[in-house]
Amino acid sequence: MFGLMQDRPLLVSSLIEYADQIHGETEIVSRCADGMHRGTWRSTHKRARQLASALIALGVKPGDRVATLAWNSHRHLELYYAVSGIGAVLHTVNPRLFPEQLTYIINHAEDTLLFYDTAFAPLVEKLKPELPTVKHFVVLADEAATAAVQKSHPYVRSYEALLSGQRDDYVWPVLDENTAAALCYTSGTTGNPKGVLYSHRSTVLHALASCMKDVLGLSCQESVLLIVPMFHASGWGVPYSAAMAGAKVVFPGAALDGASVCELLNSESCTLSLGVPTVWLGLLAYLDKHPESKPKHLRRMLIGGSAAARALIARLESELSVDVIHLWGMTEMSPVGTASQRPRHWNTLSSDEKLDLKVKQGRVMWGVELKIVDDNGQALPHDGKAFGTVKVRGPWIAKSYFRSEGGSIVDDDGWFSTGDVATIDPSGYMQITDRAKDVIKSGGEWISSIDLENAALVHPAVQEAAVIGVAHPTWQERPLMLVICKPGQSVTRDELQSVLASKVAKWWLPDDILFVSELPHTATGKLNKLKLREQYQHHKLPT
Ligand code: AMP
Repeated sequence: MFGLMQDRPLLVSSLIEYADQIHGETEIVSRCADGMHRGTWRSTHKRARQLASALIALGVKPGDRVATLAWNSHRHLELYYAVSGIGAVLHTVNPRLFPEQLTYIINHAEDTLLFYDTAFAPLVEKLKPELPTVKHFVVLADEAATAAVQKSHPYVRSYEALLSGQRDDYVWPVLDENTAAALCYTSGTTGNPKGVLYSHRSTVLHALASCMKDVLGLSCQESVLLIVPMFHASGWGVPYSAAMAGAKVVFPGAALDGASVCELLNSESCTLSLGVPTVWLGLLAYLDKHPESKPKHLRRMLIGGSAAARALIARLESELSVDVIHLWGMTEMSPVGTASQRPRHWNTLSSDEKLDLKVKQGRVMWGVELKIVDDNGQALPHDGKAFGTVKVRGPWIAKSYFRSEGGSIVDDDGWFSTGDVATIDPSGYMQITDRAKDVIKSGGEWISSIDLENAALVHPAVQEAAVIGVAHPTWQERPLMLVICKPGQSVTRDELQSVLASKVAKWWLPDDILFVSELPHTATGKLNKLKLREQYQHHKLPT
């Protein structure tokens, strides 16, 4: 027997309609190349409907892919709603990728329109001859700023000119909720980047579940500074979940340095911000020199994308008086999967015990099933010790890549293997020990590169550390640590080894420590261990 409830599809357009109706006056603030823009959820909805009319006038059909190459801004938000709203697919492209990867991705997606920040005009100019499917190139700027770009790139159109004069009474179509809404390529896998194709249903369900207090905890009382880029895993779904919650959203544009971030946090009374660890390290470095800029309204900081080290969490909490929440997920998961939520007995814990929990990536949110398995696929116990590959399953987790690239990505029971290695403790807190390919295999045992990096960060002179496995004749691999010191500070190898020895087992200690001036990062801000392994493949360990 079926229930007798209404069967209304879960659509992205319902989010912006709701935000307009109930939170229409709530602000959407954006720092763009052409100045600060102040709008509201209502004006976002109005402009998204104008953009929808413009897209249709340009010939965009349901299912067509429309690409963006842009930092976080109100215009990017309008594209999120207009493109998906008409049944087309929003393809967010990461501008930090190499030109060859950009060309591959845009051609693979067969994007028909490309919307981009004026700063990327020279890059797009270079790519243009290789992009046969793109019919229109639109810069996210008004007519005056576009005119300046048109002098050297005459084919570009102005976003504002496209919108002006368009009707704002467009009615969003009632689509099948399984219609594709957005596309994001991940380079976390081997081979070419692969497209993760989100549906309206998966997007709305992820937004709904991630709003929960123990995950992002969004509400209409929050002012959110969205630092995580909208081109990477839909900005952790915040462009959608913030509409559902009616939160104020502040978009920082391209300036993510400590000074610019602090300025926005204070001027927009931001209560919550989301970003990768590197951004927060930059913020702390800035505040060391400018303590007067300390954010006054910030209450919560959500960190994910790479492991947040204990030392970073401790500093942020004590120096900024904020609550740090550690998130884990991936592009294939829409992206949020776990959050380091507070357990019921939180108030009985010592501050050290609280930090022990916050360093873990946390408990899985409702809607995501998660397990750790050994090399034979057997589930491992939740004892906080056994570590194995993390597998996930759920309604906002990919079952296949776009155009079936790479074949089937789930096992016979529908589980997707994340490529991360983790432990799960008896209370369900997961702790990532490594990416499967980064774990150091020494004498048949595994050494966690993340644990070693976090241990190094305990030393006050260490700014960033990376650990990779280097070939060893006896042990197969041994850890090599690369360290960047803070400006004007230093630490010796021996000092660092003794700090590490107080944190990890003796046989985990790196066989060598090198001091370097920079470390390579990927286009999504993670340490580029592949590059480091290549760079140091012939490094001769003193052992
Ligand atoms: P991406 O698909 O680019 O977002 O990358 C996802 C990967 O980032 C995950 O599979 C993890 O390896 C890593 N990651 C994300 N969040 C965390 C975290 N909190 N701690 C450790 N690794 C993380």
